Formats: sequence, C-alpha cells, structure tokens
Amino acid sequence: MAIFVISTHLFSQQPYFQQEVNYKIAVNLNDVTHTLRATEEIQYINNSNQSLSYIYFHLWPNAYKDHSTALAAQLLLHKKTDFYFSKPEERGFVDSLNFKVNGKQIQWELDKENIDICKLILNEPLRSLDTILITTPFFVKIPDAKFSRLGHTQQAYFITQWYPKPAVFDNEGWHQMPYLDQGEFYSEFGSFDVKITLPKNYLLSATGDRIEADEEEYFLNENVKQTLDRLDKQDYRAKDMEFPASSKETKTIRFKQFRVHDFAWFADKRFNVLHDQIELPGNKRTVDTWVYFTNKNFNLWKNAITYVNESTIFYSYLNGDYPYNHVTAIDGTIMAGGGMEYPNITVIGDMSNEFDLDVTIAHEVGHNWFYGILGSNERDHPHMDEGLNSFYEMRYMRAKYPEKKISDLIGIDENLNLFGVNKVEYWREKEMAYFIAAKSRTDQTLDIPSQDFTEFNYGSIVYSKTSAIFDYLADYMGEENLDKAMKFYYEQFKFKHPSPKDLAKTLNFFSGLDLNWFAGNLISTTDKIDYKIKSLKKNKDGSFQIKIKNKTGVATPLNIYGFKDKKSVGLIWYNGFEGEKTIEFPPADVEYFKIDGMDRMPDINRRNNYIRAKGFFKKRKPLQFNFLTKYENPTKIQINYLPLVGANYYNGFMAGASIHNYGLYQRRFEFAITPMYAFKTKNPVGFAEFNINFYPKKIFQQITFGTKAKSFAYDYYNTELNNQANGTNYKNLVFNFYKFSPYLQFEFKKKNATSPIHQYISYTNNNLFTDSLNTSFNTFISSAPVKKNTYSFVNQLNYNLNNKRIINPFVLNVNLQHSASMAKISATLNYQITLSKKQFIDVRLFAGTFLAGSYAERSYYAFRSSGYSGYQDYLFESNFIARNEYSGFGFSQFADVDGALKVWTPLGQSPEWLVSANLKSPTIFILPIKIFVDIAFCDGRALNTDPFLWDLGINIPIVKDIVDVYIPFLYNSDIKKTLELNNVRGINTVRFTINIHKLVPKNIIKDNLF
Ligand SMILES: [Zn+2]
Repeated sequence: MAIFVISTHLFSQQPYFQQEVNYKIAVNLNDVTHTLRATEEIQYINNSNQSLSYIYFHLWPNAYKDHSTALAAQLLLHKKTDFYFSKPEERGFVDSLNFKVNGKQIQWELDKENIDICKLILNEPLRSLDTILITTPFFVKIPDAKFSRLGHTQQAYFITQWYPKPAVFDNEGWHQMPYLDQGEFYSEFGSFDVKITLPKNYLLSATGDRIEADEEEYFLNENVKQTLDRLDKQDYRAKDMEFPASSKETKTIRFKQFRVHDFAWFADKRFNVLHDQIELPGNKRTVDTWVYFTNKNFNLWKNAITYVNESTIFYSYLNGDYPYNHVTAIDGTIMAGGGMEYPNITVIGDMSNEFDLDVTIAHEVGHNWFYGILGSNERDHPHMDEGLNSFYEMRYMRAKYPEKKISDLIGIDENLNLFGVNKVEYWREKEMAYFIAAKSRTDQTLDIPSQDFTEFNYGSIVYSKTSAIFDYLADYMGEENLDKAMKFYYEQFKFKHPSPKDLAKTLNFFSGLDLNWFAGNLISTTDKIDYKIKSLKKNKDGSFQIKIKNKTGVATPLNIYGFKDKKSVGLIWYNGFEGEKTIEFPPADVEYFKIDGMDRMPDINRRNNYIRAKGFFKKRKPLQFNFLTKYENPTKIQINYLPLVGANYYNGFMAGASIHNYGLYQRRFEFAITPMYAFKTKNPVGFAEFNINFYPKKIFQQITFGTKAKSFAYDYYNTELNNQANGTNYKNLVFNFYKFSPYLQFEFKKKNATSPIHQYISYTNNNLFTDSLNTSFNTFISSAPVKKNTYSFVNQLNYNLNNKRIINPFVLNVNLQHSASMAKISATLNYQITLSKKQFIDVRLFAGTFLAGSYAERSYYAFRSSGYSGYQDYLFESNFIARNEYSGFGFSQFADVDGALKVWTPLGQSPEWLVSANLKSPTIFILPIKIFVDIAFCDGRALNTDPFLWDLGINIPIVKDIVDVYIPFLYNSDIKKTLELNNVRGINTVRFTINIHKLVPKNIIKDNLF
C-alpha cells in the first residue's frame, strides 16, 4: 500500500501524456456455438516518460465465467440472480490466448483477484516513446445477453468488451479494473481495423466505417428500400421475430476508425434498416445516420432516425461538431431497459413509448461526446460522463418537449394524475430523483467511484444530481457562458482523458466567477442547499429589505425574484453566505418574493422560499387537499387524505379517512391520523402516528422520535343472560383499549452505503388503558354493570438487524420487555435459505426467557408455544378481527409469535422460557402451497407430558407475508388430546394470520429504494 501511494505520487509529477493503442482484429462469428474465434494485433506506443516492464490487459469476457468475478458479486448486490443461478452454457469466457511481443513468446498471468484482468510481463522493458507489437489469438464464448452488456439472445449478437485490451496507463499509474455492470470504462485512444466474418444474411453494424464494402453497401441499401416500402404500407409484422436460417456462405466486412477507445459490433438477421444524412451545424460536414430495429419495435422505431439526427445536431451545436462519419442506434434487448453507448454506435433496450425512445437515443448518442470523444475515467468519476451527459439529455428534452410531463414518459398518465406527476415537467425528473435521496439523507458524494454508489444513488446522484447542479450553474453563470466554456472544454480535451480538475478549471476560467462552492461543496460533498426567507420589510423609498437565513450553512449563490401576476418583475443574484443576511431589493411593484425564482437551484426545502410583499401573515399559504398523496408543491400547504373502511367483531363496520403528509419525499415531520367512526358501537375509533426525523453526522443514519396511538373495542360484556334472569334491561358493555406509545428509534449508519445490512435500536414506551368489568359494582339487580379502565405499561427495547442480501437473507430481532413488575427477553431469527430464483426454505428460530417477575405477573405475559390468540396479544400489536372469541372465525386468527406452532393448543404456556424452530418448505411444484413443521420446547409446562410440542401441515400463502392460512394435520399426542378435549376439530383446526401492521405506507418507498 505504501509503495502504491509513493508511486502514485511520483506519477502525478509527470506532465499529462496518453498512450496510443492501435488494433487490428480479424474475427469469425460461429452462430451455432455462439462463439468468436479471432486474432488480434496491437501496436502499443509508450508515450510516458518511463519504461514499462509489464502491461495490464482486460480480459472482460471472463467476467461472465464464474461466481468469483467482480461482476458476479455486483449483480448479486443489486439483487439480480440470473447469473448466480445460470447454467454453464449460459455463461461466457475468453481463452486460447497466446500473447507474443514483437513475435516473441512472453509470460503473462491472470490477476489474483480478478480473472478478467491479466498482466503481460515484457521480456525487456518498453522504453519511453518506443513501440511494440503485441499479438494473440483469442476465443470467446458469448454469454447470454440477459446478464450484462456482452451477449447473445439466440442469434442476436451484442458484441461489446469482447477483445483483450490494454488497461490505461496515465500519470496516475495503471488503471486495471474488473468489468462491472454499474461502473463503466476507461480506455486508451487509438485506431481500429477490424474484419468481421459471419454468415452472409446478417445485418451488421459496428464502430467505424465500412472499407471496400460495395457489396455490403448494396445489401444494406436493399434493406433500407424494403424497410421504407413496409413503412409506406404500414406493414409492421410485430410478431414476426423468427430468425431466418443462416446463409451457408459467409462475408467479411472490414471496419476502420481512428481516435476512438473502443470497438463494438451488433449482428442480427432480422433487422430493418433506415438511413439518413445530416449536416453538422459548425463545419457543415455530412454525417450518415442509421437505425437498425426488429419487427417487434417497428412501429415504435419508425421515427427513430429523426431522434438520432436531432440529438447529433443538438450535441454538436452545444459542444462541438461530431468528428466521425456515422451515428447509429440499434434496437437490442440487452439488459432490462436503458441503453448502452459505444463509439459511433449505441444499443437501446426495450422502450415503452416514442418519447422514452427519444430520450434514451438522445442520451446514448450524447455519450459520443461524454465518454467517446471526452474519454474521462468514468469508473472513478462517473459524473464526468453519465452526469454531464444527463445534463445535456435534460436540456435536449427541455428544448424539444418543454410541455412534456413526467407522466408522459411513463405513458400511463390517467393513473398517475393522483400523484400530480402529470403537472411536473419531464425535465424536472432529474432534480426529483436527487431530492428523493437528499431529503431522506441517503444521498452520497458525487465524486466517488461507480461501484461505491448504491444502485439508486448511481441514478439519483451520478445522473440526476450532476444534471441538477449543472442546470443551477447554467442559471448562475448564464447558459451562453456555460456553453462557451463547454465548447472550449471539448476543443481542449477531445480524444483525451480530461479529469474533474480540468473541467473545474475550464468553468472557473470562462465564468470569471468564484466557483469553489460548485466543485468544493456540490461535487465533493453531500452538502445541501436550504435558504429560507425569514422576514421582509418595505422601506419608505419602496425598496425592500429581505432577511434570509442559510439553514444548511452551505454558501452557494442565490437569486431572489420578485413576482407580480405570476410573472417575474426582476431578479437579483447574491453571493452565497452563511448564517443570516439582510439583502436589498430595489423598489418594484411586487406581489411576492421568491428565492430561486425559477426553481433551478437544488434547494432541498423550497417550502420556505416565499414571502408576500404586503399584508399580515406574509408567509401564509393556501391549503391543498389531495387524494392519497401528491407531488410536492412548495406554494401550498398540502394535506393528503385516503378514505378507509374496516371492521372488527366488536366495533362492527368502521369508516373514516387517513389524513397524512406522506409523499415521495421524506419529511422531517411526518404525521398520519386515521379517525374512523364505528357504526355498531357508535363511537370514534382509529389510529395515528407522528414522528420527527433527525439526521446526525455520525454513528446514526437517522434518529426518529415519534408516537403511535390507537383505540378500538376489543371485547364486550354480554348482559343478555343476566337480564333474562333478573328481568333487567341493561345494555351490553363495550370494552375499548387505548394505546399510546412514544418511541425513539436509532438507525445505524452503514459501514458502506452499498451494504445490505440495516440495523436499528428502538425504545418504545407502550401505555395501555384497557376497559374491563368493574366487579365491585357487580350487583346487577340494583344497578347496571359498570366498566373500569386499567392502566398498564410495557416498555420495549428492540434491536433489529436486517441483512437484505438476495441470497440467504435474514432478520435478527432481540426484544427486551419490562413492565412495573416483570422483565423478559427474546430473540427471533428469520433466515431464508435460497434454493433458486423463486424457491426458498424459511427457517425461524426463537428463544425467550423471563428475567424477573412474580409467577402471576409472568403468567400474564407468558411465552406461548402456539403464538398469540387475540386475547393474548397484550400489546395490542396485531390487528385481530375478534380478539376475545373462543370459537369460530375470530378464534382461528393468531399471531405467529413466540413458539409459532400453527396448530392451536393451550399447552406450552411458559412463565419461564421457551425455544422453538419453525420451518417452511418452498412452494410445492407449481402449487401455491408450502409444508410447515414446527417444534417447541419450554419449561414450566404443567399440562403436557410430551417433552416437545410439534406440528406439521400445509401453509397456503394468500397475500405474501401478510395473509397466511395454515392447515395442521400432524401433531404430538398431547396436542391431539387437548384438541379433542376442547372440541376443536375439522375446519376449526385451520388457523390464519393477518400481518397488516407490517404494511407501513411511509416505509414503502424507503424499503424499496434503499
Ligand atoms: Zn449514460
């Protein structure tokens, strides 16, 4: 490590240089075995000022070889199991290598950690400015395209990262890197001369220009004619996706390209082809544009050539003319969704509509600039290509479709009207993604290597934050100035490896402004912006004094707009500041002022950016009521509602509404109040939750302080028999419970953001007020029965570790409970053994013991071998249909806690300790049923004689993890006897669970994204 640091330091003393690598490859596609056989000749020119004794090479098809590769690990981390469960014939590799340098055999070795990297040990050092010729044959088994970027889907070929390729050597040293799905490339510029041999009827497109290929040009033109003809006739044949038989004859097409750093090719016998030409805006050069697509997407792609044309012109206009001769987009179903860029050529995944296709083509075409021509190290600085390119993609969409809304992208706007995304401009999609991460404080610093980002943040930070902050910069320095700077950047660094510093220097130079906050805060940290208008005073001369507070202390420039009739009447930019500052706004006829008038600064709280120019309550905002939830509107106080109905045995039918402020973004203060009216008991019932979130810098990711409350009826006292006996007419008593639980939860920061392990500790103070019959008034004849209300509390300390890894995930929960006179502790491990993509064995282990308490006290809180019936759920945690029924439907519901035997039994109620093991099989064949086995063992078992209680039966999952039905059919003899004794038989032995309390609406977004 020390040596590495020192050598890095030495290299950094070197002036900029780049190596030159020129390739000659001849490759044969075998479309029966899906393999490539090739020879490669590489001219390697050492432009550094030092001798090289070895050269790192990438052998990236080996990424698909086995489970040991970095790709395999990352796919699992991203919960993609196709590769993990793949068959050997679906995987890929490269072999038959025999490296020679200048015709002489050399030694080479695979990297110890990564089998997709190797090191060529030169017989003699390659001196500064010397050239060597490296040759090798190679053989590639092409993997299935479903894993990542290199692959085939039957006879559709996506041939990318397929040949042995030197890693980059620059003034920081060697940049050898394993292939990754999330994490792109860094390669040396040079020339390619590639001959591809394949059956004659393939349509082939590649990086580079076809050389001496008259016959192939004719073949392509014929295809273009056929495609145009079918377009005319609207003859799309979307279902015709058969592969025609391959020609017996082969053809060899030669491609050449200069000043690129990669070479990709795509071949399919089913392609339709369209061809056009454009004139570049600057040098007026003509560039060919092509699209290749299958019948399945004929209708969708029929205008795709215009997307290629317009995006090429757009990027040329803003950044600099396209330097090559063709731009091509290929319709390919490589990976799910999205697209992938290579020099001259891009492959596009399945798109949902033309708009989506246009966005994706523009983005991928744009990579010709940010990746292709400006070849930054995008593995270490992914924002340099994905981020910048997303900024231009956003501008392309904003210029071309200013009216398009986010719902248009998804293409199902009626359903999404609910959330208000039909009102949000499409181009705001980027800041929206950034805000989701930033407002929940799960964002990460922009300038870290690709593989260190969570999958969500790779999108929301690398793509979206970069785009949002560059738009802010454009607003600040002026779009024209930014474009001037970026043109200069392009001219200066084209066909080179620009670094973040090169970009920052260029921007500083062209803006003439101090942009340290941009690179220093916005790119290099997770610092967030939140300016707030505190107050406003109008001066006698008609000017205004506006007091502004910087709530985060990150001093970035800001503008203030004055508005009248929703139109701007002027704006002023102010330098960033910390703390509070009173700024002057000149006299103007202003209705209201707004920080960041056009919403182009990623201010994480826009709700405090407004103030009225006159009147009392200058910050007041109108209320807006939304069904379900709505996209944030900072100018309104938004309250969401959701009508709800419910029923339980005692309250009968209940109707009400949930009033809440949950939305797409996490908020510091969150609430949900759900009042309901119970028609049978004619009283209000319901539940509520309030919480405040804090985000400390260290140890804890989030601290939540909140309170939950709920109240329902849980039992009743039936007066009927007494009334009959005594001739009275007293009403039944309804017993309610009221639960009030303040809690404090500490979620731990993860060691690595990408870790699947989530941990928290919480402390809950459960206060329970329960009605029961007041027996001291139980005369019944002289007076009506009276109920009393009893208070009790149970405090809970809970530790939860959830390992959300995709293979063998588990949750460990340790729970300590104490009341005034009892203490107990238990641990539950839920472990899932992953057998295949959809087959699991669920293992549950439970152990619990009392720590203190009298026998009577402990009996009330006893460990229960067969889970809780309604009346045993002393914390009123689960939702029971009927908590206190000893027969019928209500009796059959239980909570699968403690011993969690699925069969009902009064046995195994332990005031001492209890252990259990519970197993569930995978689903049987295609049937939605599982086999369960439970075994429990406890102390203090007074009633049973068998040492163990066990059962076995069938589980039918009705709603995954929420509703389960259990049919026990085998159990030990003690259980059998007590069932008979209690007259529980037949359908009554069937039990079910409803875990609706596991559905927490505000956690749904978080649980699914992070
Ligand atoms: Zn991209």
